[in-house]
Amino acid sequence: MSTVAECLFCRIVAGEVPADVVATSADAIAFRDINPQAPVHVLVVPRDHHADVAQLAAADPALLAAVVGLADQVASSEGDGQFRLVFNTGPEAGQSVFHVHAHLLAGARLGWTPA
Ligand code: 5GP
Ligand code: ZN
Repeated sequence: MSTVAECLFCRIVAGEVPADVVATSADAIAFRDINPQAPVHVLVVPRDHHADVAQLAAADPALLAAVVGLADQVASSEGDGQFRLVFNTGPEAGQSVFHVHAHLLAGARLGWTPA
């Protein structure tokens, strides 16, 4: 397992920082965002540390698939199975935590106005 000592999401994975965990798998965990932007707003993160989705895809595509699979599972358990996945990649795109995470958004008809 790869971890970075000061990384917030590595600390959540390790249980050192509390989170409202909704699902886990061998490779990933899902927990509620502290500042939800939709009725269902869950962050899905690989247990291993990768900075962003591009680096994860290059280093371990199966782990990216595991993240998507856990998101799909949560979308079905929390709603009707329809969902949006957002991977903010880089500060200008809104990334503030540099441990890759999928924002799973669901539970309503979602708007489409990122700019
Ligand atoms: P980003 O801005 O990197 O795409 O997304 C980071 C997300 O993490 C934000 O939506 C923010 O609300 C959430 N977040 C930041 N700190 C914490 C925390 O300590 N716990 C939880 N559950 N979410 C957090
Ligand atoms: Zn990390």
